[in-house]
Amino acid sequence: MRCCGRSGATMGSISQKGGPGNSLAWRLCLSIPGGKRDEDLILPINSSLSVTLHQDQLKTTTTVAISKDFAEDRIWLNGREEDVGQPRLQACLREIRRLARKRRNTQDGDSLPFSLSHKVHVASVNNFPTAAGLASSAAGYACLAYTLAQVYGVESDLSEVARRGSGSACRSLYGGFVEWQMGEQADGKDSVARQVAPELHWPELRVLILVVSAEKKLTSSTVGMQTSVETSPLLRFRATSVVPARMAEMMRCIEERDFQGFAQLTMKDSNQFHATCLDTFPPISYLNDTSRRIIQLVHCFNTHHGRTKVAYTFDAGPNAVIFTLDDTVAEFVAAVRHSFPPEANGDKFLKGLQVRPAPLSDELKAVLAVEPTPGSVRYIIATQVGPGPQILDDPNVHLLGPDGLPKPDA
Ligand code: ADP
Repeated sequence: MRCCGRSGATMGSISQKGGPGNSLAWRLCLSIPGGKRDEDLILPINSSLSVTLHQDQLKTTTTVAISKDFAEDRIWLNGREEDVGQPRLQACLREIRRLARKRRNTQDGDSLPFSLSHKVHVASVNNFPTAAGLASSAAGYACLAYTLAQVYGVESDLSEVARRGSGSACRSLYGGFVEWQMGEQADGKDSVARQVAPELHWPELRVLILVVSAEKKLTSSTVGMQTSVETSPLLRFRATSVVPARMAEMMRCIEERDFQGFAQLTMKDSNQFHATCLDTFPPISYLNDTSRRIIQLVHCFNTHHGRTKVAYTFDAGPNAVIFTLDDTVAEFVAAVRHSFPPEANGDKFLKGLQVRPAPLSDELKAVLAVEPTPGSVRYIIATQVGPGPQILDDPNVHLLGPDGLPKPDA
């Protein structure tokens, strides 16, 4: 039995299906990332919010197959076989099989056409850089949880399955604007994701991902956050005294589509998150010189316009996620192109949504206090808020063939 699903990506604080074939999508979530209060159950020390990005531009596709002929569980990521024994992957598989067993023990649960002892094969592909601070783990585990649930016929809340893979993956199970409520119970049953506003709630909102580096990051988000929880007093202060009020304010901004409020809070929260990284011992530094130049560029742009028209947020990596509105995208892309001119790939500098070329006024050029640094922004992905996971019925897009092995071109 195969199933394929697709899900979108999540980055930052306000920020993904199975049978024969299932794929997923991913989301990008904005800031207010949380540390973890329980590393096994993956329970956060504060609630968080994210925006799920659109699968037309950024997606994870996952296919799950189950068969009595498979000798062992196996997983292929971006075409390469990975160690299926990774604890987080094992925790996801254990949890989905537990839920499937629970369902089979109810009267409507006898319908699975296979035994729960059969092994699974998983193939997954991200169409954006993996392990580079663009939330591939959130998209990947959300898509995996969703696809496994389709294959195993599990219809209950999947927060726990996704969370066991990557905390922020529970948010990526929904489209639009999503909150991960930290919960209070020791067993984590109330630590779940909930949609705050749907995908089409704020149609003018646009997201630009400024890819500074597609390289694998030096410190994985999980290891980094664990060290921060253990050593940073600022992180503890942030979790107890800052984030709760910011969460409430951010939800108000989203509900009222208050871009100024949303943008300022997003930037402040990103800055504070990175301050907690520096406050970690030994310190963690996800931002690089280009990230800092992008921050400066955004502030110069906003000052020039006399109001906040653009916001940045950085997750656990140097790549910037920019929020703006559709009437500002073209001018801001022109400003980025001016400050970070493409070295060779001028025609491939902008990917995703179409952005019409816009001239840059001499006044704006003069105030962009950034010395042009060619090539340091490699490319831009223009996208918007997207839906949650989607089932892919077309067998041609499934990543596993009828033999349960990755198709040659997958
Ligand atoms: P990122 O910032 O991209 O989330 P992390 O280092 O936090 O980087 O997580 C990357 C890890 O997430 C990968 O090494 C892999 O274990 C897991 N991962 C990424 N994409 C997928 C996917 N599509 N399916 C399953 N697991 C994935």
